[in-house]
Amino acid sequence: MTVTTRFAPSPTGHLHVGNVRTALHNWMWARKHGGRFLLRIDDTDLERSKEEYVEGIRADLAWLGLDVDGEERQSERFPLYEAEFEKLKAAGRVYACYETPEELEVRRKILLSRGLPPVYERKPAGAPAPDGAAPHWRFRLDHDAPIAWIDLVRGPQNFDPKTLSDPVVRRADGSWLYLLPSVIDDIAMGISHVVRGEDHVSNTATQIQMFAALGAEPPQFGHEALLVGTEGKLSKRLGALGMGQLRDAGIEPIALAALLARLGTSDPVEPVTSLAPLIAGIDFARFGRAPARFDETELALLNQKILHHTDYHAVAPRLPAAIDEARWNAIRPNLMTVAEAADWAAIFDGPFAPPVPDSADRPVLAAAAAVVDSLDWSADPWGALTDSVKAATGASGRALFLPLRRALTGRDHGPDMRELLPLIAKAEAAARLAAV
Ligand code: GLU
Repeated sequence: MTVTTRFAPSPTGHLHVGNVRTALHNWMWARKHGGRFLLRIDDTDLERSKEEYVEGIRADLAWLGLDVDGEERQSERFPLYEAEFEKLKAAGRVYACYETPEELEVRRKILLSRGLPPVYERKPAGAPAPDGAAPHWRFRLDHDAPIAWIDLVRGPQNFDPKTLSDPVVRRADGSWLYLLPSVIDDIAMGISHVVRGEDHVSNTATQIQMFAALGAEPPQFGHEALLVGTEGKLSKRLGALGMGQLRDAGIEPIALAALLARLGTSDPVEPVTSLAPLIAGIDFARFGRAPARFDETELALLNQKILHHTDYHAVAPRLPAAIDEARWNAIRPNLMTVAEAADWAAIFDGPFAPPVPDSADRPVLAAAAAVVDSLDWSADPWGALTDSVKAATGASGRALFLPLRRALTGRDHGPDMRELLPLIAKAEAAARLAAV
């Protein structure tokens, strides 16, 4: 069996962290098994679907490094849905309904008030159609075929079809609801695994009967626990958190992937610099049933950790020209984001506004300014500078190092000065020491 997975977003908005997690897992599964990963644009809702969102979805997947092996659009597949629908109609598996939403709501309330489950009640066969009304269409569940599957995440699942409402699959205006076209496509595209959020579990129960009604084996299903925010519920912020915002905050795509690949599993989140080790480790059986907690602070820290061992060549196109490989290697342990490298470009080459030193630090700085010209810049100038200033002033420890660091970099903290100083030109360092 060729593994074929799909990511099937509706282009009615931007992808958020939860959608992206679903996309990532389906992609990883396909890649792990040498299979195919398809992007299916669920744009049956022609009013709400927008081309800008389709483009945004493609751009977000590309940003994350999730390459697709094919793209399909539901809006181009209506003739196929029509043909399959006609077959189901001829077989009596879809049928016309005429209830208004108000009538359905009244029935629902009556059933609930009697302590009964609010399951749709079929009309007796041959009930007359109201004059002139256009029907909507429901799929007739087979009440004698118990529904069962082994969920990749949740294990054995069982549904009694009598406890489910026959789902509406087509509206009175002829437009499609999501359920049936999705099954038709999953069959036509040879989808082997459908992995999605647990909000789809009851859809899956009805869709399993649709696969059977269309003469196909269902794919394997996996339903993942949903993501929640740090406040422990489905937060509005999380639902809205798009890739653009994360990108603007300096989050690297690999950091997001590293977190989303493991969140909700018992495996540790690791600061990887490529997707390969994540792919190798994906296993749906390792995902738990409890909601997975997404924490933006955890993401920022992971991003920072990943940058600390990110290779120069992976970021070079995004760095200012002044940051070469040696400079990148020196500053990366101090970066939260790649964009911060630009601040360091000025620290290396200027323009540089020397901070006003404490008067107690002046002797150290004067001693440094006096000796700097004589130092060999190619052989540990920081060691030589501090030895010489120590000998001249008697200063040591913090009283020696901090004033020099401040005068040379304008900062109290930063990379190891032994590594940093040779990367600042000698004349530039001399000018900074002379200026204070
Ligand atoms: N368009 C559906 C959704 O976004 C697809 C669900 C599925 O993966 O089957 O909910």
